[in-house]
Amino acid sequence: MRFDLTDEQQQLKQEIRTYLDKHVTPELVEELKGNPDGGPLWKTYIKKLGEDGWLGVGWPVEYGGQGKTPLEQYIFLEEINRTGVNIPFITLETVGPTLMKLGTEEQKNYFLPKILKGEIEVAIGYTEPEAGTDLASLQTRAVKDGDSYIINGQKVFTTNAHISDYIWLAARTDPDAPKHKGISIFLVPTNTPGVSVDTTHLMGERTNSTYYDNVRVPADALVGEENKGWQYITTQLSLERLMLSTYSRMERMVEETTEWAKETVMDGNRVIDNPGVRDSLAELTVKLEVLRLLNYRAAWSHENANEAPFRPSMNKVFAAELNQEVYDTCMGIMGMFGQLRADSKWVVADGSAERYSKSQLVYLFGGGANDVMLDLVARFGLELPKV
Ligand SMILES: Cc1cc2nc3c(=O)[nH]c(=O)nc-3n(C[C@H](O)[C@H](O)[C@H](O)COP(=O)(O)OP(=O)(O)OC[C@H]3O[C@@H](n4cnc5c(N)ncnc54)[C@H](O)[C@@H]3O)c2cc1C
Repeated sequence: MRFDLTDEQQQLKQEIRTYLDKHVTPELVEELKGNPDGGPLWKTYIKKLGEDGWLGVGWPVEYGGQGKTPLEQYIFLEEINRTGVNIPFITLETVGPTLMKLGTEEQKNYFLPKILKGEIEVAIGYTEPEAGTDLASLQTRAVKDGDSYIINGQKVFTTNAHISDYIWLAARTDPDAPKHKGISIFLVPTNTPGVSVDTTHLMGERTNSTYYDNVRVPADALVGEENKGWQYITTQLSLERLMLSTYSRMERMVEETTEWAKETVMDGNRVIDNPGVRDSLAELTVKLEVLRLLNYRAAWSHENANEAPFRPSMNKVFAAELNQEVYDTCMGIMGMFGQLRADSKWVVADGSAERYSKSQLVYLFGGGANDVMLDLVARFGLELPKV
């Protein structure tokens, strides 16, 4: 059994890191501080990643990818994540692969090359005021009318809708069917008349409510087949859970904290010489190694069409809890310095501890609440009866 990357994969990882060191410039990082949605430098960077073939490392050549495997795509994802600069993650890592598996030929030919060039961003429209964890209760309706569908309803937490070209929208197409069997997915252009977007402010970032008022879309906006939406939702969410489980940004935080603790003297002693600090950093390192191996296993399973449906849920629970532990622990080690924001002249590690300790909270329930993920692990991993 092999527990590490092959020499070729290690080489690829290094090649991607060198590329990103060159292209994630201080100017780009600075631009994102003032505008988290991304300005001109960010847009150029995404296009460049697409042109240079990196967005589709593990995608088939026919859609513009490099034709490598999901494991190579995962290596790319980890390296990108380490930089702390977002790319259209949801579109590239979840919507694209779901379309590849379940979309119509026309949808694959239209959307996939554009996604790989960084030309399209898609937001996920599942959650409604009365349908979160119990997503299959969603009420947004899509009614067939000749060659179109007419959509009415409301979604909450449609993250990035304000900068997206499409909403991957879940709507009820058969109100008489059992609730999981009457849902379909549509790719709704955000500029369609009747679509509106309203800001929801969160701690340090934003999401949106989206409204659909007699929105008319052509019948080919339906993804795959009518009333098969639940399968498309679970496929997309499974990929999202893997995407949320990456370890590299946390690893960087531990490295930066270790460096800082080596260089910093408090009350006459180096911070790193405090046994409690050493133990904490060592413990985080062990847990990150566990997560790394869990993720390689999940990426390998995907590559070998050997997916156990509970694995992405298992990894997501572990990663979401570890996120909290890493950022809280590192902030604790840095003391008052850890609480400083990126714009302070005394800031350590670009304010990552403060920023991520808040922003990563969403992982505890985003992509499915951890309590429910544990239930899935119990049922499908341990084969325990449903309660
Ligand atoms: C920042 C942010 C971004 C988001 N982005 C998106 C997005 O882009 N697109 C989108 O569609 N949605 C998005 N969401 C919504 C997110 O997926 C939901 O918040 C999540 O599914 C939980 O739904 P809820 O908020 O309605 O909580 P509820 O379903 O009301 O759950 C509340 C609590 O009850 C517990 N609970 C509920 N049911 C069970 C159960 N059966 N067993 C055990 N415990 C249970 C859960 O653990 C949870 O903690 C986002 C949310 C946030 C906060």
